[in-house]
Amino acid sequence: MAASFRVSAGIVAALGLMLLASACAPRQSARSVPQAPPAPHAGALLFWPNRDPIQSACLNDLQATGAQFELIAQAEPGKDGCTLQNGVKLIRSSLTLNRPVELTCPMALRLVQFEQEVLQPEAQKLFGQSLVQLNHAGGFTCKAMTGNGSRISEHGHGRAIDIWGFMLGDGTRLSVAEQFRARGREGQYLREMNRAACRYFSVVLGPNADAAHAKHFHWDIGQWKRCGA
Ligand SMILES: [Zn+2]
Repeated sequence: MAASFRVSAGIVAALGLMLLASACAPRQSARSVPQAPPAPHAGALLFWPNRDPIQSACLNDLQATGAQFELIAQAEPGKDGCTLQNGVKLIRSSLTLNRPVELTCPMALRLVQFEQEVLQPEAQKLFGQSLVQLNHAGGFTCKAMTGNGSRISEHGHGRAIDIWGFMLGDGTRLSVAEQFRARGREGQYLREMNRAACRYFSVVLGPNADAAHAKHFHWDIGQWKRCGA
């Protein structure tokens, strides 16, 4: 994808500059070398502990978006079948989050891309101001699918997020529960953004899908396909 390519090219350029800078830097005594390794989001990294090349490529792309995150240790699936592969604790996407959220790296990356390519520019167009906060009700959590108790929800694999609202720069709140069906720009924005989410996620649910999603959007990148916007 073009966006991913630009991101990767950016990393390569940044690394090239870093290498150049370190080659030109005066030699330091061993004592002055910092002991602590850089945090995952402190700068471009080539090596991600315990992650294979495909997982690392996603982490590099996620880092290049400017998102702030921490790695979550890999774990074998538990008895309940829930597991989080290549998991990250997303502390900040391109927006402030009401609280950190645990997702797979591909799901976190998709979310940030959707914010940057759709949610943010459309907010600018409709409201003439920035979207600053995303309010969610959870990402990775071990639970069964709604309506099918025998199958694990995509939340049980960290591939889904539930969104209950947003906030604009002037403090205006956009609430799925209160404004999805309302007239005016707030309702229009919520309805249009959930429809647009179908281009980025494989299952999209909301108040138009069923009663279980009357108050929040569900977006996931699992194997099923449904645009219930
Ligand atoms: Zn959900």
